[in-house]
Amino acid sequence: MAKNVMLKFVDVARDMPDKRPPDLRRQDFGEIYGEYAREKAAEQAGRCSQCGVPYCQTHCPLHNNIPDWLRLTAEGRLQEAYELSQATNTFPEICGRICPQDRLCEGNCVIEQSGHGTVTIGSVEKYLTDLAWENGWVKPIVNGGERSESVGIIGAGPGGMAAADVLRRAGVQVTIYDRYDRAGGLLTYGIPGFKLEKDVVMKRVAQLEQGGVQFVLNCDVGVDISFDAIRGKHDAVLIATGVYKTRDLAAPGAGAQGIERAIDYLTASNRKSFGDDVAEFDTGRLDAKGKKVVVIGGGDTAMDCVRTAIRQGAESVKCLYRRDKVNMPGSQREVANAEEEGVEFVWLSAPKGFTGDTVDGVMVQKMRLGNPDATGRQMPELIDGSDYIEQADLVIKALGFEPEDLPKLWGVEGLEVSRWGTVIANFTTHETSLEGVYACGDIQRGASLVVWAIRDGREAAEAMLEYIAAADTIAAE
Ligand SMILES: Cc1cc2nc3c(=O)[nH]c(=O)nc-3n(C[C@H](O)[C@H](O)[C@H](O)COP(=O)(O)OP(=O)(O)OC[C@H]3O[C@@H](n4cnc5c(N)ncnc54)[C@H](O)[C@@H]3O)c2cc1C
Ligand code: SF4
Repeated sequence: MAKNVMLKFVDVARDMPDKRPPDLRRQDFGEIYGEYAREKAAEQAGRCSQCGVPYCQTHCPLHNNIPDWLRLTAEGRLQEAYELSQATNTFPEICGRICPQDRLCEGNCVIEQSGHGTVTIGSVEKYLTDLAWENGWVKPIVNGGERSESVGIIGAGPGGMAAADVLRRAGVQVTIYDRYDRAGGLLTYGIPGFKLEKDVVMKRVAQLEQGGVQFVLNCDVGVDISFDAIRGKHDAVLIATGVYKTRDLAAPGAGAQGIERAIDYLTASNRKSFGDDVAEFDTGRLDAKGKKVVVIGGGDTAMDCVRTAIRQGAESVKCLYRRDKVNMPGSQREVANAEEEGVEFVWLSAPKGFTGDTVDGVMVQKMRLGNPDATGRQMPELIDGSDYIEQADLVIKALGFEPEDLPKLWGVEGLEVSRWGTVIANFTTHETSLEGVYACGDIQRGASLVVWAIRDGREAAEAMLEYIAAADTIAAE
């Protein structure tokens, strides 16, 4: 049977779900890709070559059983396909939307290597899980019996939420503490709606709440409650706080008004999409409408900023990056989307300083790519005498994020951190240097991806279950 429906990659071309035209996309924060129709999903899944050694699966951080759920999709066995896909992924519809597939599963698809265009794995994963929600196949979180032990999770991002899901299904009592007023971490307040609509995230938050997870929101650990108090309340603790310290610019004029941090800009925009009153936006400070916007950086955060500014009605949006297009860290798919929507990329350019007390320009230095560094990446070098001023009345710094100094911030002794500030933890069990304390996601890895946070959260939860069981055994002896 499989022979009839699979291996269609020679005759059937790769086809992504329809993308809304750029002119329409620019007007709202809705997702840009439509949904596959049932026949299209089956047809595209049937392009899989069913490799004996599936590199897509190896390169998916969750080791999703991709060839098998593609085959089930091609055969029309959609509920079974969904069951298999959710067995390894807590939030498949989220990964299907925002994983950089070109660097993960799809980037390692064998038929892509042979020039036929990768199987659209992410889009099929999204299709299956959206269909599962529509058809009631997504099961509530239930357990075989409540247990008395409890886990405290600090941070309600994808890492913390994935761990909570595993722990609640095992009957453990789970409380998640988060300093924001909504759960979801960067899924809620960082990533814009045009990549991930917010009701997709809120559905998962509701599922966890209905499954018995207690959310303690507006609770900044280290300010509203101490880390030690949380540790004292629970049998184990998971640190899943992400990384939020913005890398800064040390150029003259960098303190001028109108130079903003990407996280503040994106959070304000996402809050507006929820219908919140946001003073910094309503006064115009974090609103790009009618402004000449310059975003500095070449990663995914920079792409989210430029595309947000377009949707807010900026007069012009330019992205300044010190290397060229080939060498930028952001997903090429997102760069293409940004270009279609009207963003102008100013490659091989770095800010030397800023003009105006309220910023009115960026002093730009042109660069060329020189010799490779230790990692093999070509280093940007200045081109003397090529400086010019790029007009700007909103500058957004999107230069990446670093961990906050948790031991200092929380007054915790014995919590080991690396020289970058990430919490040192075992990469399989996620145990930190403190007994019964675990870490996962960006605070362990440094700024990374949602799919890695999910994997870490699942692994940490399994390790905490073992730890709790072992502690119970010792107590009973
Ligand atoms: C703008 C942007 C776009 C991105 N786009 C993508 C993308 O397209 N695809 C992708 O895979 N990844 C993307 N990422 C990366 C991804 O969002 C992160 O890797 C992922 O969210 C990390 O998950 P986490 O659970 O470790 O932390 P987070 O999602 O950061 O969640 C941490 C939570 O901890 C809370 N917290 C922190 N400190 C405290 C404290 N002291 N007390 C209480 N609560 C606290 C925070 O409020 C937050 O809710 C993007 C990141 C950014 C910034
Ligand atoms: S979770 Fe991400 S990497 Fe894994 S199959 Fe889905 S889209 Fe690909």
